[in-house]
Amino acid sequence: SNEELSAKSAAQNADTNNPTIFDKIISKEIPSTIVYEDDKVLAFRDINPQAPVHVLVIPKFRDGLTQLSKAEERHSEILGQLLYVARIVAEKEGISKNGYRVVVNDGVDGCQSVYHLHLHVLGGRQLKWPPG
Ligand code: 5GP
Repeated sequence: SNEELSAKSAAQNADTNNPTIFDKIISKEIPSTIVYEDDKVLAFRDINPQAPVHVLVIPKFRDGLTQLSKAEERHSEILGQLLYVARIVAEKEGISKNGYRVVVNDGVDGCQSVYHLHLHVLGGRQLKWPPG
């Protein structure tokens, strides 16, 4: 589909090192619909939702975590916090009863387009498996 093609080309053309649009979302320079925030983690609605609920969960301080494959031992705590916030978001969004999916796209093959680690929380409909 066109959607898949554009996700792939976005992934292939992504800037893997420079600051990303998520910095401007964290600083609120760019508006977003925030569903959860604490001192270390922000969760906001994806601008191009792939399910009735599609929320991104990100660390406020990227600290080298451009993508999961760059994770180091020192990131263990924030990695755990992100996953826990995904669970809180799912509860808040009312998708915990029926189930949901948490996704991390990594690199080109994973169709990652923004190089600031983020968890996708997807739900509110029956999802398919395997993903494309
Ligand atoms: P990735 O493809 O890197 O796993 O996911 C990046 C996600 O960020 C995409 O689902 C895309 O729709 C979302 N996104 C990109 N730019 C913005 C933005 O400015 N605002 C919001 N809310 N989401 C964005």
